[in-house]
Amino acid sequence: MPYGDTDLAPVISQNTVSFHYGKHHQGYVTKLNELVAGKDWAKKPLEAVMKGTYGTDNVGIFNNSAQVWNHTFYWNSMKKGGGGFPATGKLADAMKASFVDFDGFKKEFSLAATSQFGAGWVWLVVDEAGKLKVVKTANADNPLVLNLGTPLLTIDVWEHAYYLDYQNKRGEYVTAWLDKLVNWDFAIRNLG
Ligand code: MN
Repeated sequence: MPYGDTDLAPVISQNTVSFHYGKHHQGYVTKLNELVAGKDWAKKPLEAVMKGTYGTDNVGIFNNSAQVWNHTFYWNSMKKGGGGFPATGKLADAMKASFVDFDGFKKEFSLAATSQFGAGWVWLVVDEAGKLKVVKTANADNPLVLNLGTPLLTIDVWEHAYYLDYQNKRGEYVTAWLDKLVNWDFAIRNLG
């Protein structure tokens, strides 16, 4: 995580971060290390492991490697004092072309995040033509293995991401996340 465990509060509490980063994310890292020990996968970059095991019998290695990648991307998608979408620039132009305006993006992203059934992730991606899209993925899946475009941002909508702070009110987590935590600088860097 590129910040301290209290820096996302009050949107995401230190308590949530301590479980999410310290137990869930750490758990995926520990399990992945166990599963690849002594295998060729242990020598490969994380992204290669994730892509190479997707859709194969190596379900455990895929799930844990993708969850490590997804969580690292999620922590980078937030920052202390985030939100406040930039009014001009390449991302703002792409946002207008793809969603009419920033509110259009927020509506589509919020709808995707609240309607993802069960565990998963919602992503802002850019496709090869430069069009921005909101996509949902289930469980550990992500846009890289599904070829859905280049990820710019992600929100974790597994219950462990918000349940201690918001219980069943996923929509409140998503709204606060968009308004107060999004790291647009990270999204702009990923847009290239
Ligand atoms: Mn998570």
